[in-house]
Amino acid sequence: MQIKAAVVTGTNQLSIETIDLAPPQPTEVLIKLQAAGVCHSDLHTFRGELSVAPPLVLGHEGAGVVEAVGNAVTKLKPGDHVLVNWLPACEQCVHCLNGHYNLCERYGSTIYAGCLLDGTSRLHTQAGVPLKHYLGAATMAEYAVIDQASAIPIPADVPFEVAAIIGCAVATGVGAVVKTAQVAVGSSAAVIGCGGVGLSMLQGCRLAGCHPIIAIDVFDQKLDFARKMGATHTINARQQDVYETLRAITGIGPDAVFDSVGATGTISQALQGARPGGTAVIVGLHAANLEVPLPIASLIYDNKRLLGCFAGSIRPKVDLPILVELYRAGRLDLDPLISQRYALDQLPQAFADMEAGTVARGVITF
Ligand SMILES: [Zn+2]
Ligand SMILES: [Zn+2]
Repeated sequence: MQIKAAVVTGTNQLSIETIDLAPPQPTEVLIKLQAAGVCHSDLHTFRGELSVAPPLVLGHEGAGVVEAVGNAVTKLKPGDHVLVNWLPACEQCVHCLNGHYNLCERYGSTIYAGCLLDGTSRLHTQAGVPLKHYLGAATMAEYAVIDQASAIPIPADVPFEVAAIIGCAVATGVGAVVKTAQVAVGSSAAVIGCGGVGLSMLQGCRLAGCHPIIAIDVFDQKLDFARKMGATHTINARQQDVYETLRAITGIGPDAVFDSVGATGTISQALQGARPGGTAVIVGLHAANLEVPLPIASLIYDNKRLLGCFAGSIRPKVDLPILVELYRAGRLDLDPLISQRYALDQLPQAFADMEAGTVARGVITF
């Protein structure tokens, strides 16, 4: 079938064009997308800063309606509402058996290579050139073919745009707090960067019973979003001294500092900002080849913990439905996260707004 999609044709080259999508194979499903989140990873991939090389169809946060299923699919049927899980774990490798589904061995040859789970693509240009599925998802398109392991059923009352962002930003942000750091009730916490992931971290901190919850950003508008999403204090890092202010609020520094940005300055800021004996959690990834000089004395003498967090350390099939239920129960307040909606053609504007710091999370709606 022919579909409209956001195609990265080369580094920094984006085209919204009509392409061909082949039907689902036996274990795959065809989804009619209703919403696709705009994530920094999409922007970094468009810029050639992460590992998947073009040509490819962007997008890995998505939700929609199952349109057709392959003949070996038993748990999904046309009409089901699903969110797209870009971590379709094998559930058999040593990492999966250890509960680390975010580290599954099959990702390297499949989703990170821009393929579906059989190592091939269903996407071609109209001239017949194969296109990769970004993270096995390719949700910035009217339709997507994904493996059944990439489709998580959701109740019909969950808005598609909320379901879309649960699959990446919310899972990563909330997971960093409750799964990676496993903060104790009453912990003080600071979050660096208030985009979709950082704002989700604030929600995770609130859910986990942290206090105070301190949001740090360089845009006042994002700090306004942060106050709506659970921050009890805010710091504008351009106008205030971050360390002094953290100590003024907490006395000795926060128990945990989360970095959602992944830049050289913010990573060392997270480590230095945490109290002696505290924890720094690095979640954001700016560029795959980034190397960062770290204040090691702060790590050793102050007995700190420095943790990496990939995709919120989640077990997608277990944790994504839990996040959906926490939203339905009002425990996660995700509606304010979606501050801007775009048509697919407006993706360049969505990237520009994300960089300018004027959106919490932008979502493409179809
Ligand atoms: Zn993402
Ligand atoms: Zn596995």
